[in-house]
Amino acid sequence: MLLLLPMFSLAESPTYRGRLAPSPTGYLHLGHARTFWIAQERAAVAGGALILRSDDLDRTRCRAEFSAAMVEDLRWLGLRWSEGPDVGGPHAPYTQSERMPHYRAAFEKLRALGAIYTCHCSRQDVLRALGAPHAGDDEPVYPGTCRPAGGANDEWRMTNDEVNWRFRVPDGETISFTDGALGSHAEIVGRDFGDFLVWRKDGLPSYQLACVVDDAAMGITEVVRGADLLTSTCRQLLLYRTLELVAPVFYHCPLMTDVDGVRLAKRDAATSLRALRAAGATPDGLRARF
Ligand code: GLU
Repeated sequence: MLLLLPMFSLAESPTYRGRLAPSPTGYLHLGHARTFWIAQERAAVAGGALILRSDDLDRTRCRAEFSAAMVEDLRWLGLRWSEGPDVGGPHAPYTQSERMPHYRAAFEKLRALGAIYTCHCSRQDVLRALGAPHAGDDEPVYPGTCRPAGGANDEWRMTNDEVNWRFRVPDGETISFTDGALGSHAEIVGRDFGDFLVWRKDGLPSYQLACVVDDAAMGITEVVRGADLLTSTCRQLLLYRTLELVAPVFYHCPLMTDVDGVRLAKRDAATSLRALRAAGATPDGLRARF
């Protein structure tokens, strides 16, 4: 019998597809650079492809100048991708604001399944109902103000588009997965996160929905991103399951902090790649700090 041996080493996977998914809401900083560098290395070790996607759905914060700077900074650092907004590819477009029909289709499926319901609460309403200031940037656990008693609600038949939509989570269930960097991770639904937004009243999908739709459509097999998104990964696993999409595996990089232990953020100009470069930093010098 003829035994066909694969032409690649065991570590290689010809189907590996990773992605860089920055949001052009500011200049990229050292933390992004490190996460993206790890993403590139993991794709290289697996002999796979790396794609660039521009997550530009936040209309109020995304700017064209940041998109251009993003590509320039990534290239300066030494990152290379084989598909992306600037080079095209089989899954184009690679810019989220040009992919609305994909998000609409997923939204319609969730609606048809009765998995989502309309919600009139603003973020302020949610925080007020919780009666406590919310620490951190993450979506607070929704107190259920608009959640219908059973199944989904039918209100959408009477409303126009200007309403938020939330995904009804299965309270009490444990969502667990094995992270490539951090090992096993588990969160309890309803305690660690609650019903989350999938569609906003401004007519745009939430990050959770857009991310799942695109990672699945683009055939991403491993998502490398910051550990601040661990809870989002649990939310997204629920969306993959409900939409019957194949979930990738995940690798969450520990977050970079400054000398005072504070997480790096886009608003801190000092650690932006631009500022570091202007101050004489080289790509090799920065990579040595990762
Ligand atoms: N655009 C998102 C961000 O910059 C992507 C997060 C992700 O990798 O899923 O936070």
